[in-house]
Amino acid sequence: MPYLEIDLKKICHNAKILKQRFDAKKISIMAVTKVTLGNLTIAKTIVDAGIKLLGDSRIENIKRMKESGINAQFVLIRSPALSELSSVVEYADISLISELSVIEKLSEESIRQNKKHGIIVMVEMGDLREGIMPKDLDNLVSRVLKFKGIEFCGIGTNFKCFAGVVPDERNMKEFSDITEKIKNKFNIKLKFVSGGNSANYDWLMSTKNIGLVNNLRIGTAILLGYGGINEDPIPGLYHDAFTFVAEIVELKKKPSFPTGTIATSAFGEPSIFQSGKYKKSGERNQALLYGGRQDVLEKKLIPRDDIEIMNATSDYIGIDVKSNNYKVGDELRFDLDYEALLHLMTSPFVSKTFI
Ligand SMILES: *Cc1c(COP(=O)(O)O)cnc(C)c1O
Repeated sequence: MPYLEIDLKKICHNAKILKQRFDAKKISIMAVTKVTLGNLTIAKTIVDAGIKLLGDSRIENIKRMKESGINAQFVLIRSPALSELSSVVEYADISLISELSVIEKLSEESIRQNKKHGIIVMVEMGDLREGIMPKDLDNLVSRVLKFKGIEFCGIGTNFKCFAGVVPDERNMKEFSDITEKIKNKFNIKLKFVSGGNSANYDWLMSTKNIGLVNNLRIGTAILLGYGGINEDPIPGLYHDAFTFVAEIVELKKKPSFPTGTIATSAFGEPSIFQSGKYKKSGERNQALLYGGRQDVLEKKLIPRDDIEIMNATSDYIGIDVKSNNYKVGDELRFDLDYEALLHLMTSPFVSKTFI
């Protein structure tokens, strides 16, 4: 079975370093666990590193983390669905939310469960993901403050996600200004002014005006050590806490170019041999790896060895192993990005091993 090797010491290191750097700027971290499917071992590592606030987009993940006794506050970082409100109230402490009608139902459900559910109201700052338009915020807040089952505990926004809009001095200041107006108008304290995600790293390190922002929601930077607007490696962090490992199940010299008429490949994509990249030139040492698109996006893997990923089907990844001396059964190791990690964590055919 292919496996994902997870180095907990590296994740712990990343979490601790980021916490130090963020603490110095008076910014708390909500560690985002969704890409790991709320993996208990990883979540526990992050909590042990000192981050006691965990965000996940899937209530099932939060339920599992909570029930296993992970000692943190849990935030549902996706707008809750009406059909899931009872488990949202039962397992999450806080939700990110932008629909008044849902907040109202959430309040009713909280009252039914004898609880208060925290909400962070998301504001649209240009990226066009979830968020209320700033002009409608006043009205929403005045209504929300009357809901008995709700604790209004913050305002949030998100960047570099749906549209790819960059958090910069202008929109971050605007976000703080909007928050300030709400605070003053309703004379309230906000526990969370949550200004974005790992893409805010450059802004955080360079800005002279953090404004009212006091929290960021951080997944990628802790797990993979990348952040900022170009997802650059963050200095002092590990970028290889996760390694994808798959074994060679076939290794043969094959013609460098296919035989026969070429149409599209398994997923209806243009054949890689139509791109002009591959020439007819003798033979190639070609390996098939045990693992395919059901498990991982091969385009998002980076081989640790000098080899080249050619293409993948549901079940195989085809590799040009060049002149390397492998044999059937040998394992190949790969670095990966966020999207590859998401698929690998989600595949039941990839085992997870911790070191
Ligand atoms: C996934 C997610 C994050 C974390 O983003 P990273 O870029 O991985 O830090 C933050 N906020 C929300 C709302 C998310 O959905």
